Amino acid sequence: MKQREEKLLHARIIPPVKSLSLTDEKLFRIEDGCRFTVCGGDAAEVAADARRAWGVEPAITILPPDSSLKAEAYAIEVSAAEVKISAASASGVRHAMKSLRQLAESERGVSRHTHHILPSVRIEDEPALGFRGIHLCWFPETPVWEIEKQLRLAAYYKFNYVVIESWGVIRLNSHPEFVWSEFAVEPDAVKRLVKIGEELGIVIFPQVNLFGHATASRTGSGKHVLLDFHPEYAGLFEPDGWTWCISNPDTRRFLTDIVLEMHELFGNPPFFHIGCDEAYNAGSCTSCRRADYPALLKEHLFYFHDLLKQRGARAMMWHDMLLCREDERWDRYTVCGRRDDGLEELYRELPKDMIICDWQYGYPETDGREPTWSTAKFFKDNEFEVLVCPWVNKDGIRSQGRFAAREGLMGMLETTWNWNREQRMWAIFTTSARSAWAPFDEELPDMCYHEFFNRHLREVGHDMGVSQYIQTGRVMYQVNPYDYQP
Ligand SMILES: [Zn+2]
Repeated sequence: MKQREEKLLHARIIPPVKSLSLTDEKLFRIEDGCRFTVCGGDAAEVAADARRAWGVEPAITILPPDSSLKAEAYAIEVSAAEVKISAASASGVRHAMKSLRQLAESERGVSRHTHHILPSVRIEDEPALGFRGIHLCWFPETPVWEIEKQLRLAAYYKFNYVVIESWGVIRLNSHPEFVWSEFAVEPDAVKRLVKIGEELGIVIFPQVNLFGHATASRTGSGKHVLLDFHPEYAGLFEPDGWTWCISNPDTRRFLTDIVLEMHELFGNPPFFHIGCDEAYNAGSCTSCRRADYPALLKEHLFYFHDLLKQRGARAMMWHDMLLCREDERWDRYTVCGRRDDGLEELYRELPKDMIICDWQYGYPETDGREPTWSTAKFFKDNEFEVLVCPWVNKDGIRSQGRFAAREGLMGMLETTWNWNREQRMWAIFTTSARSAWAPFDEELPDMCYHEFFNRHLREVGHDMGVSQYIQTGRVMYQVNPYDYQP
C-alpha cells in the first residue's frame, strides 16, 4: 500500500525527484499562516511562489543555508505541522517549491476548492546536469503568449536556460528592416519575458545566426526576411541568400549592430548563441570563393567571440559545419561540412571557451547497443565544453542525457523547432526535463506523464491569467490542419 502510494506520488513530479518516501499518514494543510521553515532561501521569493501556486500567505521562517548540500540540491520534509525545505542556495529552494506545487492536491471531499494538501513525505533531489536549456523558436506564427507559456513551463520543469531564436520577429532599432513587419514584436515584449525569467529563476539569452540560416526563415518555406522585400541587400549574402557573405565588411557591420542590440535587449546575459549550422553554399560568391575561406570564417568567428567576451558573454555555436560528411568517424551522426569547404581543421583553432552545441536528432544505435555520440565525444576530447542537443526522438533524448551525465558534459540544450505542439510538445518537455535532471530515473508508463503534463500546462495558464480557448492546452485548436503532421 505504502509502496504504491509512494509510486503514485513520485510519478506526478516532472522531472522526477531522486527519492521520495512517505513518513506519516497525516496531511499538511496549505493555507494562510501555515508554517514553512526554509534553510537557504529568500522569504519574499518563497512567499511569491506560495501565492502563485496556492494563493496563500504562509508564515515563513528563514534559517541559514545548508552548506552540506550541492548548489542546486534540496531536501523537503513535510509533516502535519510544517514544511521544511533545506538547500544551499535560493535556486535549490525554488526547485523545492516547484516540486511541492506538483505534489500538492486540492482538498478531497468538497464541492469547491478550500485549500491544498500535502502528504507527509521526505524528498531528496538534485540535478544531474548543470546546464539544462531549451531552445525556443519565435516564428511569425508564434504569439507572444505562446513563448511565455513555453518559458514558464521550462522554468516549472527546472530548466535553467532558455535560448530564444527570433525568426524575423523581434523589431530592432538598428535594423528595422530585418523583421516581418506585420508580425513584429516590440523590444518591450522581450524585456517583459526576460523579467519573468528572472522571477522564475531561468536565464533567457538570444540566438542570432551569423553564418547559415541567414534568411531567418525555414528553408522549406522559401521565405527571406530581408531579400523578399529589400533586394538591395543582396550583397550581404551569398548569391542564393541562405548564408551570410562573410568577405563583405558591411555584413560584419550589419551583424554587429544586431548582436549588440540583441545582447542588450536580453539584459546582457552570460551566453549568446551564434547559430552557424547548415551554412549551405558558404563561400560561393565571387569574393569568397577566391579568398582563403577557412581563414575568413575563422576571423569571423573570432571577431564575434571576442565582441561577446568583452561584454561578459560566452558564445555557443552549432557543431555541424566543423565536421565533414566524408569522414567515416561521423557515420550515422549529423554533420554538414563537406571536405571541399576546407573547414575540417578549423576546430583546432577555435577558442576553447566557445561552447559546442552538438545537435543529433536521431538514435543512431549500432548492433542494438546504445549510440556512442561520437561527435559530442570528439569535441569534449578536444577540450570544448559541449551541450548535447536532441529534439523529438525520445530514445535519443534519454540516451544523450545519460551520455552527458556519464561524460561530465556541460549539459543539454533541447531543441523544439516547428514541432512544439500536441504530442510532440509533451515528448519534448517531459523527456528532456527528465533527461537533463534525472537521466537514470526508472522509466514510468508514459500515461503517468501525459495527464500531469496537461495539469502543469493548466497551472502555467493560471499564472499567466489566460482567458482564451486557444491559449490553453498543447494546441491552439483541437482540429487544425496545421497541427497535423503525418
Ligand atoms: Zn561571399
